[in-house]
Amino acid sequence: MASISTTAKETSKTIQMLERIGSHSHVKGLGLDESLNPRHTSQGMVGQTSARKAAGVIVKMVQEGKIAGRAILIAGPPSTGKTAIAMGMAQALGPDVPFTMLSSSEVFSLEMSKTEALTQAFRRSIGVRIKEEKEVVEGEVVEVQIDRSLTGATKTGKLTVKTTDMETIYDLGNKMIDSLSREKISAGDVVSIDKSSGRISKLGRSFTRARDYDAMGSDTRFVQCPEGELQRRKEVTHMVSLHEIDVINSRTQGFLALFAGDTGEIKPELRDQINAKVGEWREEGKADIVPGVLFIDEVHMLDVECFSFINRALETELAPLVIMASNRGMTRIRGTRYKSPHGMPIDLLDRVLIVQTKPYELTDIRAILQLRAQEEDVTIDEAALEVLTRIGGETSLRYALQLITTSSLAARRRKADSIDVQDVRRCYGLFVDEKRSTQFLAQYGKEYLQ
Ligand code: ATP
Repeated sequence: MASISTTAKETSKTIQMLERIGSHSHVKGLGLDESLNPRHTSQGMVGQTSARKAAGVIVKMVQEGKIAGRAILIAGPPSTGKTAIAMGMAQALGPDVPFTMLSSSEVFSLEMSKTEALTQAFRRSIGVRIKEEKEVVEGEVVEVQIDRSLTGATKTGKLTVKTTDMETIYDLGNKMIDSLSREKISAGDVVSIDKSSGRISKLGRSFTRARDYDAMGSDTRFVQCPEGELQRRKEVTHMVSLHEIDVINSRTQGFLALFAGDTGEIKPELRDQINAKVGEWREEGKADIVPGVLFIDEVHMLDVECFSFINRALETELAPLVIMASNRGMTRIRGTRYKSPHGMPIDLLDRVLIVQTKPYELTDIRAILQLRAQEEDVTIDEAALEVLTRIGGETSLRYALQLITTSSLAARRRKADSIDVQDVRRCYGLFVDEKRSTQFLAQYGKEYLQ
């Protein structure tokens, strides 16, 4: 096996980031309080409270490492925030937990088999945190912990100081006084810093003099200047996904294959070797496994072979949390003649937790439109917002959201600062929604190529 490198750790993150900018960029989290109860409007999320609460519980379980290898289905009518909730979960999990988004139609490609595409998506969603020791470069921040019991005083407790070298110690004292620069402080010295005056004084090489400590009072901080190993070495971690390790080791061009997107099919034997290697690192304390989240949108587009692959993959040791979303009701399972809820086989449905999203009330539609307008830096006057809200209720939220962008162009053309009813009306006439398009086809469908 070629040597395992971690150089390309950011590649898939960058791609995911690009996807996140756009229609969900106003979503910054799930908007929950400490007890996981949703605030009505928070972090870019509006309403849909029970689904958000359920999503919050799932995030908590992922963080506690309890839910890898499980599956969730977010089911609900179109534009009811299924993807927005998944995005909110990704944000709540933070950048250290791998989050992969896959649209089911991406699985059907000419370049690789369906199962290879799914395997890659699964392995993108498993992080490997690799730990290594590194020389500390001068000026870098390392964390030093000083146990107060070292002082010999009866009080115990821990004082954590972020420090690097002498310069930082000086900064800690908040623009130290002149005399300090004349005082020679070197690695290993114990210094005290008076919080109010910023005065730093040297106490000696160890905290053995309890009376010094006591004389300082509680407003004094003690800092032991780092020395020896602490000063020279620190532990650093890199996060890579199993998929990145696979690609780097399977292509002659190494990590560049990640940039080219030219990953091709990866041999199962190589994956077995990598799993074994990662297992060794884990045992030696050199790496941790971070199970992440795989979000599969439009899951009803998958066929029965994909579903049985997912069913099996969820059983394996290195499985992420799989979140699927569908806006279909009873529908045919692709590749079969059978109908089933959300087009998913019953045995898979039976093992998933189902989270439901519901159609929005007008007040929620209005709040989402307002958030989006802010995000796009667009002003809408009251009457226009009213009309857009009604359009959102009668057609779809997504259509109303799209009218914000087009109407703002119309407003800009007439050199106005804010969107008015005329702008919305003009765009409503120019761009039809799904209902009107269907009506049109019903009337004039014969004139189209069949
Ligand atoms: P579909 O079934 O058609 O794929 P969906 O349920 O995944 O739809 P989204 O794409 O999440 O719907 O929602 C449509 C738009 O509305 C997006 O821009 C999304 O960010 C926004 N949105 C939906 N629900 C909310 C919400 N509760 N709070 C804030 N924004 C929302």
